[in-house]
Order: sequence, then structure tokens, then C-alpha cells
Amino acid sequence: MGAVQALDLTLTVPTVPMVAPQVLTALVEELRAVPGLVLLQGTNDLLRYSRDAYDYSPLLSPLLERCKADLVVRPRDGAAVERVAASCARLRIPLTLRGSGTGNYGQSVPMEGGVVMVCSAMREVKHLDGQTGVVTVQPGCLMRDLDQHLRARGRQLRLLPSTWRSATIGGFLAGGSGGIGSIRWGFLRDPGHLIGAEIVTVEAEPRRLQLDARAAEALNHAYGTNGILTELQLATAPAVTWHQLSIDCASWGDAVLLLQRCARSAVALHLATLLEAPVLERLPAWSGPVTGQHRLLLLVAPDGVDTLARLAVDAGAAVHELGPEDVSAGQGLRELSWNHTTLHMRAAEAGWTYLQMLLPEPELPAMDQLRQRWGDALLWHLEGVRQQGCSRLAALPLVRWSSKQQLEQLMADCRELGAVLFNPHVITVEDGGLGVVDGDQVAAKRSYDPDGLLNPGKLRGWEERR
Ligand SMILES: Cc1cc2nc3c(=O)[nH]c(=O)nc-3n(C[C@H](O)[C@H](O)[C@H](O)COP(=O)(O)OP(=O)(O)OC[C@H]3O[C@@H](n4cnc5c(N)ncnc54)[C@H](O)[C@@H]3O)c2cc1C
Repeated sequence: MGAVQALDLTLTVPTVPMVAPQVLTALVEELRAVPGLVLLQGTNDLLRYSRDAYDYSPLLSPLLERCKADLVVRPRDGAAVERVAASCARLRIPLTLRGSGTGNYGQSVPMEGGVVMVCSAMREVKHLDGQTGVVTVQPGCLMRDLDQHLRARGRQLRLLPSTWRSATIGGFLAGGSGGIGSIRWGFLRDPGHLIGAEIVTVEAEPRRLQLDARAAEALNHAYGTNGILTELQLATAPAVTWHQLSIDCASWGDAVLLLQRCARSAVALHLATLLEAPVLERLPAWSGPVTGQHRLLLLVAPDGVDTLARLAVDAGAAVHELGPEDVSAGQGLRELSWNHTTLHMRAAEAGWTYLQMLLPEPELPAMDQLRQRWGDALLWHLEGVRQQGCSRLAALPLVRWSSKQQLEQLMADCRELGAVLFNPHVITVEDGGLGVVDGDQVAAKRSYDPDGLLNPGKLRGWEERR
């Protein structure tokens, strides 16, 4: 990582498209004849492709809901991407990239209007290296399709968001952070996941560049602010048929300790989610019976099922072996994990939002203190993760929303107890992450997007420089 510095900057969001009509006409004229490029200008398309899942945040919604693209384009290949990049650079038009638009931070919302480039037609899996397992794939490939492709060849994705059926691999790399698999493989920005990338620059004469792992890292989780990814090289893992275990515990303290024992055992895990009993009452019927107890959801390698069942019995918990995962159905344990828990809560009952944090150690006293202060306005949802090589607990607690002040006070309380917050109620890369500017990300923007046209307003380090 390059030089870091703390910042305090308030961003404002324009509410009207910024592109003058005559400039837009010139752009459309230039792009109309580009082979392999679809242009969408209908109002419904402009609105639809200007939104993502930011409505999980009551703070982001009013900020972003009026943002609208002036033009949506869908390129089929790198040559069409270059033509769009060249036109945007010449005419000084903002360009915002988009996969499936499932991000929660408004990552793909065009805050200054301009062009939204939907990458979903660039979806080819180009190559799987039989020796290393490194896969080369276009950014618009759905993660479900990529995982299926890999599994047919004995490999699987290491990390997946719970939106893996609908999200693209490029959107995950540029906008996501971790998820299913994080208990073993940590987070996307850990060295070793992104092996290289092909990018297109936004200049009057765009360059197509091959980046090695070190150079590509600056585009990892940069919200598409500093280069257009046209190919990715990613490490994969040997395929495993994961088995599902659901374990009910009467006591929250016992449930947390059991989660930690499972995570630290010599057993391969893909997922370890712990949900507090009141959360289970709001999950869909297919998720299993409501028992009034807390529930631990595990995806475990076949040879580990008996071991984890034994640990659970020793802890006095009730074990339900659900057998091998059927990933075709969309109703597995993984669809109850990560931000899918929040999705189900919000579907069952309006008024819930969430936070994301790494819990301080020891976790139980910190959670107890927050519970005492916040009562049932805060419901616990934990995920086992690996953080810098160590087994840790991440939390995505559900928060009953009442006001901005409430949310800010809650975050302050969490920080005071030593939690590391990943705030999902902010629009910049830095504020949603560690709160500091990554000099490499800004330097990459200077090189690959010198006029600052890519996804304006999302890279704090660049905005401050402006
Ligand atoms: C219910 C729910 C559950 C979720 N669970 C998780 C989770 O477990 N883990 C997690 O990390 N996230 C999670 N998310 C957030 C999101 O679904 C994922 O991060 C997802 O991978 C984003 O993929 P996408 O195709 O929708 O990307 P988009 O939302 O379309 O884009 C994300 C970012 O990538 C950029 N981008 C897209 N294509 C390119 C490109 N070609 N080049 C450069 N930049 C590009 C965009 O500009 C944007 O900034 C969840 C969201 C919801 C609503």
C-alpha cells in the first residue's frame, strides 16, 4: 500500500445530469456506429442502470436517488470499451462502470450523470491454467457461471458474496470485499487473490494495458474509479462438495464459543454464520424451524462433518445435518449468510438497516456492553473470517433504524469498544474501508484516468486533490 493519510471531507451530490444536450448528441453520434456496442436511452433504462442496492442505507438513499445517467452503453468487447473511453475523454463526459448493480454503497451510481457502462456482455471465461488454477475471465461474467465453469474442471471460486448468483466477477473485485470463503481465504484485498488484470485507460487515445499482480492491486476495491477492467486473472481453490450443518444453541455465549471452536479446528470450512434467535424469526420459511434458539450455519468439507457435530454435542447444542449443498436451488445456508441476512430481515419487516465491523477481542464482553446500551434495536449476526491470517469474528448486526444521530452514536460506541467499522452508509472507497487514502489507488487514477472522469465522487483521495 502507498502513503496513507487521514481525511475529513464532506462530499456534495449534484441532483441533475451534468452533460449538456449538444454534447450528449455528439456522443451518441460518435458511438452509434461502434461495432459490438448497444446504446440505451429510454427513461426506464436510464433510471434502472443508475441505481444499485444503496437503499439498504437510509443515509445513502436520499443522497443518491436522484442521480441519473444520460446514456447507458453495453460493450461486447475491449475494442468497444476503447471507443467509449475515447469519446468520453474527448468530450469530458463522466463514465461510471457497472456489473449487475448489487453493490450496497452506491458504487455504480453515476453521481454526476454521464455514461453508465454495463459490463454484462463481456462474460467469457478465457482460460484456466491447469497447473496453477489461475483463471482468466472477462469482468461481466456472473460469479455463478464462473463457479460452475470452474467446478466442471475441479476448481472453485475462493471468495463469493452472498449475491454470487447475480453479481459479476468484475463488480465483486471492484466493489466487494469478501463473503462466503472468507473464513478460509480472508478478504479480496489480501495478496494472492488478484493475480493480474487487463485494463483500458480513459484518454483520447485509450491504452489497453496488462497489469501484473502488484499494479493490478490498485484497482482492487477501487469502485471502478481508476481504470476499466476488461480481464481479470484470479486464483482459485480445489473444488469441494460442501456439506451443510445447522446447529441450535440455547445460550448466546455458548454459541459464540462454539463458532470459534469450529473455526479454529482442523476442519475445512467455507462458511460459519451465527444468527441471534430473533433474526431467525424473520427469515423465510425454507430456512428451517424457529426454535427460539440461536443458530450456527456451517458449510464444511465432507471429512469434517463428524468432527463439528461432535464439538456441537459437547457444547450441548442440537445438530442438524442437512447433507451436501445443492447450489442449483438458491435456498441453501449460503443464501442466509452475509448481507443476505439483512435482505431477509428487510423483506420481513421494514425499518432495519445494518453495520459491518471486525469485533474487538474478547468479543463477548463487547457485545454484552452494546446489548445493554442498545437493547433489541441491535440484533447480532456474526461471520467467522480470517483477518491477516488469524481467525476472527466479523459482525453484520441488524440495526432498527431511527435516526442519523442514532446510527452515528452506535458506530461511536462500537469504535470506543475497539471494533473496526466498515461503514456501509458512505459513498467513498476510503470511508467504507479503513478511512484512509491509499496513495496507490490515487496514483493509478492519475495514470489511467487523468481527467478524473471515472465514477466521479467515489475516490476521496482524488476528490481532495481536486
Ligand atoms: C443482499 C446482498 C448481499 C451482499 N453480500 C455481499 C457479500 O457477501 N460480500 C460482498 O463483498 N458484497 C456483498 N454485497 C454487495 C455486492 O452484491 C457485491 O459486492 C457484488 O459482488 C457486486 O457485484 P456487481 O456485479 O453487482 O457489481 P456492481 O454493483 O455493478 O459494481 C460494483 C463496483 O464495481 C465497479 N465495476 C463494475 N465493473 C467494473 C469493471 N469492468 N472495471 C472496473 N470497475 C468495475 C462499479 O463501478 C462499482 O463501483 C451484497 C449485496 C446485497 C444486496
